[in-house]
Amino acid sequence: MGAAMITSRFAPSPTGRLHLGHAFSAIRAHDLARGRGGTFLLRIEDIDGTRSRPEHVETIMADLAWLGLTWDGPVVFQSDRLEVYAAALARLRGEGLFYPCFCTRAEIAEAMSAPHGATAIYPGTCRGVDARDRMGEPHCWRLDMAAAVARTGQQVWNDAGETIRAVPEEQGDVVLARKDAPASYHLAVTIDDAAQGVTDVVRGRDLFEVTHVHRLLQALLDLPTPRYHHHELLAGPDGERLAKRHGAPTLASLREGGMDGRALADDLRRGQLPKGAFRT
Ligand code: GLU
Repeated sequence: MGAAMITSRFAPSPTGRLHLGHAFSAIRAHDLARGRGGTFLLRIEDIDGTRSRPEHVETIMADLAWLGLTWDGPVVFQSDRLEVYAAALARLRGEGLFYPCFCTRAEIAEAMSAPHGATAIYPGTCRGVDARDRMGEPHCWRLDMAAAVARTGQQVWNDAGETIRAVPEEQGDVVLARKDAPASYHLAVTIDDAAQGVTDVVRGRDLFEVTHVHRLLQALLDLPTPRYHHHELLAGPDGERLAKRHGAPTLASLREGGMDGRALADDLRRGQLPKGAFRT
């Protein structure tokens, strides 16, 4: 093999406008690849047909260009790839790693309300239930996590040089296909990172837990495992994770307000917030 080429990506969901936290992540992914003469991809994660909007896609592209970030090759839209996800689902289903779940959101919330609150996972209500007569009813498909882990055995991944042992069990029987879409985020992101030859996934620490599930899916689907770089989340002026309550404006409103996007990107590279962007 020649010099190891890097391919990274930014993979926003076009369900709203981008914020400073998105910019921070996009810049890191971009710079990792560009700093090594590699490839930086843009993928639009629009499998959620009810929440994704074309106008947000346009705004995302304008925001990235304004920040001085360029991407390579055509933009991949997940909504164009539903058949690919369906084929992967069919494969997993054939291996008996799936079951249909008929629980409503309310039922799941009720089952999860006691007693462990925040750490509760899907209680497995529909696992092992004979559903042959119910397939006409709305349902999602859940991974039988215990069966899946028994199949793959212990997996690890490299996160910024550290070896992480995957414990997907902690995420429970995650949804891999939904009532309204033939794929979930977990499945689509895992398949697409492999299909696009992504070598390095750069994303926020808030997605660290789901990487345990993605690593499992890679093992189940015989996909390569990229290196991961889960970065700390951008902090607000008070040092706490940047959140709505900080009143941070969207990138689009900063852009429309005449801010210099490249200067903003350089501020973020230094871990600084743009001056004057916050209500104080
Ligand atoms: N589409 C996801 C989001 O906007 C991010 C996907 C990823 O980086 O893995 O939150």
